[in-house]
Amino acid sequence: MSQIHDYVIVGGGIVGLSTAYALSQRFPGASILLLEKEDVLAAHQTGHNSGVIHSGIYYKPGSFKARFAKAGNRSMVEFCQKHDIEHELCGKVIVATKVEELQHLDNLYKRGLENGLDVKRIGPDELKVIEPHVSGLEAIQVPSAGIVNYRQVCETFGRLVEEAGGTVRLGTKVLAIKEVGQQIHLETSKGDFTAKFLINCAGLHSDRVANMDGATADLKIIPFRGEYYELKPEKRHLVKHLIYPVPNPSFPFLGVHYTRMIGGHVEAGPNAVLAMAREGYKKTDFNLRDFAEVMGYKGFWTLSAKYWKEGLEEMVRSWSKAAFVRSLQQLIPEIQSDDLVPAPAGIRAQALKPNGELVDDFHIIQKTRSIHVCNAPSPAATASIEIGQHVASCVPLQ
Ligand SMILES: Cc1cc2nc3c(=O)[nH]c(=O)nc-3n(C[C@H](O)[C@H](O)[C@H](O)COP(=O)(O)OP(=O)(O)OC[C@H]3O[C@@H](n4cnc5c(N)ncnc54)[C@H](O)[C@@H]3O)c2cc1C
Repeated sequence: MSQIHDYVIVGGGIVGLSTAYALSQRFPGASILLLEKEDVLAAHQTGHNSGVIHSGIYYKPGSFKARFAKAGNRSMVEFCQKHDIEHELCGKVIVATKVEELQHLDNLYKRGLENGLDVKRIGPDELKVIEPHVSGLEAIQVPSAGIVNYRQVCETFGRLVEEAGGTVRLGTKVLAIKEVGQQIHLETSKGDFTAKFLINCAGLHSDRVANMDGATADLKIIPFRGEYYELKPEKRHLVKHLIYPVPNPSFPFLGVHYTRMIGGHVEAGPNAVLAMAREGYKKTDFNLRDFAEVMGYKGFWTLSAKYWKEGLEEMVRSWSKAAFVRSLQQLIPEIQSDDLVPAPAGIRAQALKPNGELVDDFHIIQKTRSIHVCNAPSPAATASIEIGQHVASCVPLQ
């Protein structure tokens, strides 16, 4: 008979790891096991993101995203300071380049104030001092935004969990879940495990893991690939900090931006196109099950019918470097196609409801013996410490 663990966490991305860490802090001595199907931590969303510590300006006041991003920004910085993880609070500018964006910029500024953030409206002259190569009509300066390498954060969470007596098992894929009496039995690629309580942080597969446990999520994860270019080293000087366009209020995650990364390189992107595989990092990657599930989902067709124009624009930007560059030139007119080389893509796990509505906020489903984190898109890396603490606070002592 295998050991019975107090808590088993599925997923070694930043949400699973921060949750395991929070549990080890809340319940010292508890038996904690984290199962990750890949051979390294942070192999999917967490290891392919922009590395931005967001401020929380975009999100609806009172939502999980707004509260956890603001608090998470602070706790992430404190965590990095405490554990010597390289990071930088370089600040960001959100730039209106067209007259019709000014109203959205104004709304965003008000939202920033409502969310209790230190934000500042600046004109073109002040913008030129911060970002000399950016051309804009007006901007918002957000000093609390920063950069970090989230893989390093994950490695630190993993080490702390193990130092506290927990176990992190890589290369172990959860295949089936069965509740038997007061226990949860997990069948995995490396044998069976038993838990008193299960926490699903499986990112791109969180809906499937929830379904294995019979949790009626009533949503489906749709994978959206985000493609990047990188600025050639001799052009990095064009970007001093983080430079963002004014987002479309319906899709705040759309809009390519410039990100200075830890390590000094500068990325431009990402766009957002439907991926034909949940882990399809290349344009040509295809997985029949993943693709068929999207095509057979009513919610996807309702969403597509409503927003086909935005979807088409993103696809054009995916296939045409010239179109991608045109978007980037709106912020930095002197950027040329030759200044950019392709960089690795990431895949966002975005939950979609059957009625075609994108699930905007973080979505957590609680059952008697399990919790499922079923929508944790951006800014979940920034907010990860708060999400982990929230999940741990919902979990009973075993
Ligand atoms: C392109 C892009 C840019 C982004 N930029 C930012 C940013 O700058 N700042 C920010 O705050 N957020 C950003 N985000 C969002 C952020 O990266 C994610 O919200 C966050 O990483 C989600 O973490 P996670 O642990 O939920 O998921 P993941 O990192 O995807 O981890 C889930 C893990 O579960 C594992 N798993 C799945 N199924 C199983 C199974 N059956 N058995 C065992 N293991 C399993 C997977 O292998 C994976 O490692 C970005 C996301 C993307 C894609």
